[in-house]
Formats: sequence, structure tokens, C-alpha cells
Amino acid sequence: MGSYQKVKGTRDFIGLKAEELGIVKDAARKTARRYGYKEIITPIIENSKVFKKNVGEDSDIVNKEMYLFKDKGDRELALRPEGTAGVVRAYLENKLYATGLPLEKLFYFGPMFRYEQPQTGRYREFRQFGLEVFGKSSSFLLLDVILSAFGLFKELNVTNIVLKINSIGDFKARSQYADALRTYFSRYIALMCPDCQERIKTNPLRILDCKKDKDLIADGIKIMDHAPLIKDYLPDEAKKELHDVCSLLESFAIPYEVDPTLVRGLDYYTDIVFEFIIKSDDELNNLAVGGGGCYANLVKQMGNIDIPGLGYALGIDRLLANMENLGLFRNLKDDIDVVIISLDDLSKKEALKMAEVMRKDDLRAEMDYLNNNLKPQFKLCDKLNPRYIVIIGEDEIKSGEYTLKDVLHKTQNKYSLKELILKIKENRK
Ligand code: AMP
Repeated sequence: MGSYQKVKGTRDFIGLKAEELGIVKDAARKTARRYGYKEIITPIIENSKVFKKNVGEDSDIVNKEMYLFKDKGDRELALRPEGTAGVVRAYLENKLYATGLPLEKLFYFGPMFRYEQPQTGRYREFRQFGLEVFGKSSSFLLLDVILSAFGLFKELNVTNIVLKINSIGDFKARSQYADALRTYFSRYIALMCPDCQERIKTNPLRILDCKKDKDLIADGIKIMDHAPLIKDYLPDEAKKELHDVCSLLESFAIPYEVDPTLVRGLDYYTDIVFEFIIKSDDELNNLAVGGGGCYANLVKQMGNIDIPGLGYALGIDRLLANMENLGLFRNLKDDIDVVIISLDDLSKKEALKMAEVMRKDDLRAEMDYLNNNLKPQFKLCDKLNPRYIVIIGEDEIKSGEYTLKDVLHKTQNKYSLKELILKIKENRK
């Protein structure tokens, strides 16, 4: 082992693993475009205040998990911990609200960074696919956004995802709810973790997402299970909206559960929030593969323009792990099609030419660039495991007919270059 190791919580994607990532990326792009989204690529680094001010100064992802650094010009920058705030920044900075369209629909794909304790499905560098819609919302639009996620799952043959949905209402409802939580948790605060002792002052909703106190028992009860629920503080319109979205989900046969405890950890959400949950019999069971919701005030807060937004992000690393567990990559191969063996320097040059012709014709061709002896070249074939082997020597160059070995059927025949390319393509594994 060399003396360098990857940074804790980061991953190398090599060969088929990189291929898997590419498959998901391509499917995500294709699906998003079908639903009318266009791609946006924003920088991985942003001014730290893009997140601090908008994701929430007291949220875990900003307060504890953000990668912050000063550049040489003494600017405080952050590696983005999530996608939405940067997309809103770009939406405003590029005046995308001025296109005259009723909605602006954008999708992104890229790495995010959070200084978390690495564990199953949790990394410090991970990838998200996400989309954001800017413009006046409706339950139909919300359904369309959710359908796009299920459209991607279907495209990838992922069938074990359930939607969890809830409404967290407007600012007023949340502030009344926060008071109710404060009153409730103040009874137990001495037993709670130091973070929750802070959260009760700053934002008691975050206590509900606490990883340390989630199973805390006091007075013989699990305290999280008896906390007040947001639904008792929602205005009638918010209740109606949740009801309307649920009826639509039913009519589109989307598997869903209303989860009255779902509040989500970021400041900007309002009204409907949701998560996509993996249902499986492995270590990923009940883990969220993604989440999102509406954000009525984020654009206004960042740019003084009153346009509501909504969106979601999917964790691609978790989606990949789920797909691997489902066996969806079982047949994925990156075998090469053909290895060209050459017996002297002149035929090596011919082999190189032949490889070029084949590669232009979309075949995966490989050769030995060093050896003229058969032994090391057949050894290379054993390692690369191609379906076909071509042998080039003096005689072949003279006649223009090459020996093609079919490794699978253990047969061999002579063909012209044109014929052998056709033959290889015909029987491509
Ligand atoms: P969030 O922005 O926290 O709602 O995250 C959305 C999705 O991104 C989650 O459901 C996960 O699939 C994924 N995600 C968030 N944090 C991590 C992480 N540290 N490692 C891997 N995936 C993550």
C-alpha cells in the first residue's frame, strides 16, 4: 500500500463502479429532460453565507458539517453541503426569473460535502441529483415533481421506494409549533444532549431530527414519540393542500405514507415536505434516498424577488447501494471485445492500425504494445478475457486475411478486416 490514502468519507469509483455511476447519471439526465428540466451546473465552492444565511445558521449541515476555508483573498468559502441554495443564487444572479416563462425548471448532478461520521450510506463527499422549480406552485406541480423522481426509479428498475410526505405549514404555524415543542421538551431538557439544549432555544424543530436523542426514554416513555405534532398547528389551507396531493398520489398509484413527524432539517422548507424511503431487507432499510419540499420564501430571502420554489435531491451513493443490493448491476460488464496479437514489429504497426479501425467502429480493441512472443500476449488475453482474438503476422499482412479466434466457442477462421469487424459486432456479448 502506498503512503497516501483517500480522505476519510470519500470514495474512489473505478471501472464498473464508475460505469454504475454513469448509468444513474445518464438516466437522471434523461428523465429530468423528459419532465421539461434543463441542466444547471453551479460551482462546488460558494461564498459561505449562501448556505449560512439560507440553509440555517443553527442547522447541523451548516453549523457542524460544512467544509469552510479562507481563500488567499481572505474570502470565506464553503464546499457546498447541498444543492438548492447555490441553484437559487445562480437563478437570481443570472436573472432566470426574467425569461417570461411561468416556471423555470432546473436540474443538477454533482458532489456535495458534509463533515459527518461516515457509516452505511453516509459519506463526507457524496453525489446528489436534484431538481428545482421556480414559479407559482400547485398540487399538480407538486405531483409532477414527485412523479419525476418515481420516473427515474422506474427508468432504473428500482421498485422499492416509498414516499413519506407531510406539511409543515407556513411561518406562523411553525412558530406556534416551535412554542409547543419548547414547552414539551423543557420537561426533559436536563436529560438531553448539549446540542438539543441549544436547539430548544434556537430552533426546537431540529430536536426532532436529533440522532443522539432519538431513542431517549424518560418517565417510562420514548419522548420523541409523544412530542406535539405539526398537524395540530396547520392552517386549513395547508391541511387541504396535503389532502389534495395525497388524493393525486393515490390516483397515480404512488406508494406513500403521511408521516406526521417529518419536518426536515433545513430552514428554507415551508408547506409540503417529503422524503423517498428505501424499503428493503438489508442495512439500507428505511434510509432516505432523497428528500425535498416547497420553499415559499427562499428566493425572496436571497434576492428580494417573491417567487416560490420547490425541489428535491436524491443521494446517488445511496441509490447505487440500493441498486447493487437489488442485483440491478449483476449483468454489467466492461469486457473488451477483441485483443490483437502481433508477431513482429511490422505486424505490431499493422495491429495498431487495425485497432484504430475497430475503435472507430465502436469496438473495444486492445493489444500488447511491447511483446512479439506469443506467451506474454496470450497471458494478456487471459487477463483481459476478450470474446475474440486476432493474430497478425507476416503472412496475414501479405494475404489481407486474419485469423479470428472465437474464445467462447473455441473456433477459429480467416477473415478480411471488414468481415472480422462484422463478425465481432454480430456476436458482441
Ligand atoms: P438532504 O439534503 O439531507 O435531505 O439529503 C438528501 C439526500 O442526499 C439524502 O436522502 C441522502 O440520500 C443523500 N445524503 C445526504 N447526506 C449524505 C451523506 N453524508 N452521504 C451520502 N448521502 C447523503
